Amino acid sequence: MTPGETYVALVHHPVLDRNGRVVSTALTNLDLHDIARATRTYGLGGFLIVHCVEAQRQLARRIADHWLTLGAELNDFRRQAIATLRVVSTLADAKALVAEAAGATPRLIATAARPSPGALGFGAVRALPGPTLLVLGTGWGLADEALAACDARLRPVAGGTDYNHLSVRSACAIILDRLHGDRED
Ligand code: SAM
Repeated sequence: MTPGETYVALVHHPVLDRNGRVVSTALTNLDLHDIARATRTYGLGGFLIVHCVEAQRQLARRIADHWLTLGAELNDFRRQAIATLRVVSTLADAKALVAEAAGATPRLIATAARPSPGALGFGAVRALPGPTLLVLGTGWGLADEALAACDARLRPVAGGTDYNHLSVRSACAIILDRLHGDRED
């Protein structure tokens, strides 16, 4: 898949809380800006905020509108990044939006810090043909319902230690660089 065929979804429901319950998480301004900047840096097709709560979707749109209008005079780089943003209610809506934009139904690839049998490596995902939607979680990770909606899982980013608690922003940047960054080798 090309960078332009790669999309990122940041899912705020259904995700897990620290007790393993299925919850909705609040939008984080930092997530929105950092992942939009990473999306623009690697020339992806788009960044989708997935939130089931209308007030949170309105908040995301208000933040985006600010940087697309008033904020653009302050910092056009932010405008270029936020221009990649779309806001939808569900992961199914995100899949439909990408299908419309890309002209073909995307493959959904779930991401997680937890290893899972059969997870695809970065080279295998990079070699996938056609549009691909990378599905990022919030809270304590994607709930089973979200994982079940995905076609495959990406192998976790791992540092070779017993500690693996990256922020979703850090994990997203590393994943995008492994998929589409400059390759020295
Ligand atoms: N707000 C929390 C934060 O930023 O710390 C949410 C992050 S949450 C712990 C987990 C999500 O980040 C996962 O659903 C996945 O999308 C991503 N993630 C975290 N660590 C990862 C790893 N080692 N490999 C792949 N994805 C990872």
